[in-house]
Amino acid sequence: MWLVGAGPGEPGLLTLLALHALRFADVVVYDALVDPRILDLAGPTAQRIHAGKRGGKPSPSQPDISDRLVRLAREGNRVLRLKGGDPFVFGRGGEEALALVAAGVPFRVVPGISAGIGGLAYAGIPVTHRDSNSAVTFVTGHNTNGEVPDGLDWHALATGSPVLVFYMALKHLGQIRGHLLEAGRPAQEPVAIVSKASTPEQRVLETTLGDCLRDAEGSGIEPPALLVVGEVVRLRAGLDWLGALTQGIALNPDPLGVKRQQKAG
Ligand code: SAH
Repeated sequence: MWLVGAGPGEPGLLTLLALHALRFADVVVYDALVDPRILDLAGPTAQRIHAGKRGGKPSPSQPDISDRLVRLAREGNRVLRLKGGDPFVFGRGGEEALALVAAGVPFRVVPGISAGIGGLAYAGIPVTHRDSNSAVTFVTGHNTNGEVPDGLDWHALATGSPVLVFYMALKHLGQIRGHLLEAGRPAQEPVAIVSKASTPEQRVLETTLGDCLRDAEGSGIEPPALLVVGEVVRLRAGLDWLGALTQGIALNPDPLGVKRQQKAG
């Protein structure tokens, strides 16, 4: 059994091991987030099983998925469990792997490019930048019940982490925004919402913490999406390489105004 990350969408972001697994798997058990162009890389005889989890719609429960993986492996299939992004980043890969351990099924793990890093790179947003932040925090906007996790220390997040990257953030954007503002994060702080990163439907909404809920609702931006809070969002003015290549957008070599300040000082 191989537990493999498929990256954020663009098939070119697969690892060589992921491609190898796709070519040789007898059965591919994939999540809703896995891009159809990636599934097309599976061998012609591979059985494809959708084990999607998508907010709101009926989907197999986690124990059902784990049981199925165990059964398929015990039947002697080469099973590829394919997950969006990285299997161990908000992907329940750890839970599935522990079920394999409990059942005595040997497995290997192939990491993938997580949306919160590689997807943001497609939006021209580096998660760290020397002139802006030396720490970044990845947060999930959902717990297993689909609610904002209640174990989060919002004050610590708001005051301690210069950049916050939220996965699964759209549904509870209002609550997340409210918690951060209440804990002292400035309303004018730059925010980006990055939807369907690295796919042909990628969309990026640049706004502020104060305005993000209104702007997101008005824009019709859809999941899967990431929410980024922090100064790094400004770097997009210089680093939207995809916009520069596809729409001829002019890039600003000093988006944070650092060189301007140095000259003035
Ligand atoms: N294991 C995955 C995350 C799974 S949680 C990873 O490492 O990327 C699902 C969430 O990931 C989505 O709600 C969204 O916030 C984010 N996500 C996954 N793919 C994305 C994409 N192409 N664009 C934007 N967000 C994405």
